[in-house]
Amino acid sequence: MNLDRELGVALEAVKAGCLLSRAVQQGITSVAKEDRSPVTIADLGTQCVISMRLMNHLPGETLIGEEDTKIFEGREQLKSQVLELVRRFEPDTDEDQMMGAIRFGSQPAVPERFWVLDPIDGTKGFLRGDQYAIALGLVVDGRVVLGVLGCPNYGERMFYAVTGRGAFAVHLNGGDKKQINVDDVADPSRAVFCESVESAHAAHGDHAKISEILGMTRAPFRMDSQCKYAAVAQGDASIYLRLPSRKDYQECIWDHAAGSILVEEAGGRVSDCDGKALDFTAGRRLVNNRGIIATNGRIHDAVLAAIAQL
Ligand code: AMP
Ligand code: MG
Repeated sequence: MNLDRELGVALEAVKAGCLLSRAVQQGITSVAKEDRSPVTIADLGTQCVISMRLMNHLPGETLIGEEDTKIFEGREQLKSQVLELVRRFEPDTDEDQMMGAIRFGSQPAVPERFWVLDPIDGTKGFLRGDQYAIALGLVVDGRVVLGVLGCPNYGERMFYAVTGRGAFAVHLNGGDKKQINVDDVADPSRAVFCESVESAHAAHGDHAKISEILGMTRAPFRMDSQCKYAAVAQGDASIYLRLPSRKDYQECIWDHAAGSILVEEAGGRVSDCDGKALDFTAGRRLVNNRGIIATNGRIHDAVLAAIAQL
């Protein structure tokens, strides 16, 4: 499968999302969604500009995005704010085009081929002025084959990977791409792990126990969003732990598609807590998986064994 064209469009689209979100990170407010999670004009604006690029340059594709237009019901002011934001980057956009583009991301999952987008992953980090990521992936036959992560506050870079071609980082301002690789730490006691900032998103207590079982002495570093996958992919951390904080929580596909291929193509391994590969065939959630572990590969089995001991 030659994905050069798809990669080119995805990189341009994510870059547009990075520029838009970066422009509004300061002084922004959020509104609550039905599940009470926060959403901002940057989430909606980013989904809009990325959808427009996919629609215009890759006709016939399907997109599953985190956001939809339901949020605008009874919120006319929010709609005009998002439109004003989008127009700063796409001056000719009208309201129908904006709504159509955001709605384009609400297509039903298809098993054969779909794009998956988290326009602002780590919205809580975004609101705090910390890390966040724009995450776009392409899934074919249940496997992620392309992923782009835009990380405006993590070295102002985009990270990307295509199956079988390695993982790369490129500065948002352009310049040469650089191949990235996981670290070569083989002794788990020397490993550094990363985890969510939000304790509601992952079981920090379980992570601490795993770290103790493995004899890890260094403190974890906490970071919002799929920047954690980028951290493992380029060797800033050897392990990303995401044990479920709630028994009934099923991970969303857009929180893991782009990040997981990045780590795999950088030479690492990604699985759930039971060692199972992530299964992207089941719709918007990873219903067949429990928790997430991403590592440099060498220490993956040791981490799984520690989880089994818990
Ligand atoms: P992070 O930045 O790593 O804390 O992850 C942010 C993502 O966590 C959001 O995009 C949500 O989709 C997701 N999320 C929300 N609630 C939970 C939960 N209870 N467990 C795991 N992930 C969650
Ligand atoms: Mg997210």
